[in-house]
Amino acid sequence: MDERIIEQLKFCLKKKKKITFLVGAGLSAESGIPTFRGKDGYWVSGSKNYKAEEIGTFKMFSVASKEVWKWFLYRKSVTEIARPNQSHVLLKEIENTLEDQFALISQNVDGLHKKAGSSEKRTFLIHGDFDYVRCGDECTNELYPFPKSINLLDRDKDVITESEWKALRCPKCQEDLRPHVLWFDEYYDEKYFKRDSVLKISKQTGILFIIGTSGATNLPQTIAHNVLANSGIVLFRI
Ligand SMILES: [Zn+2]
Repeated sequence: MDERIIEQLKFCLKKKKKITFLVGAGLSAESGIPTFRGKDGYWVSGSKNYKAEEIGTFKMFSVASKEVWKWFLYRKSVTEIARPNQSHVLLKEIENTLEDQFALISQNVDGLHKKAGSSEKRTFLIHGDFDYVRCGDECTNELYPFPKSINLLDRDKDVITESEWKALRCPKCQEDLRPHVLWFDEYYDEKYFKRDSVLKISKQTGILFIIGTSGATNLPQTIAHNVLANSGIVLFRI
């Protein structure tokens, strides 16, 4: 590790600055989670071929919720059997050492941080969490645990059974439930995606490690900008 980083780490520990990790899909790739970029960026259903940016949208959900759910159930079934890899474990170990000086901001919705033991309190899931669903009609802000009755281990990717579809009704209004994730045509907010919390953290951060993401969306860019503007340093590892 170069001198500058060691000095900055010392400075952070002394001044109680945060050491923050911003991570993305590249971190989970080793656990077998497709990144939905490049060749994995497509979803074939029947004779249709969708781009992730096309099917992972509120616009698509509002006209073809079942198609969108087929894709999400497939993705959820992949994460279900995935195990955390050494990077997830290492992040948990760093959290154990740094405690409240540690923050993990993750774009991953796959539940692997939780499986590795990262704490809910210091993990900010800015793109949502596959383990939760919520009302697609927003009759309530409440998050519900993903319905246990849905079979994730042996799925026919083109089929959602009648009982599964029933389990995907909002308990309050009976409209479609939706996955608790940030879609391509939606915006970061505090209520679901902890935008204000992570912006606050970015201003208290002395070192930001960016791992496994190009940081192309606007919130990661603002986080990095805030760290630099507050005399912190930013280190990339794609
Ligand atoms: Zn509802």
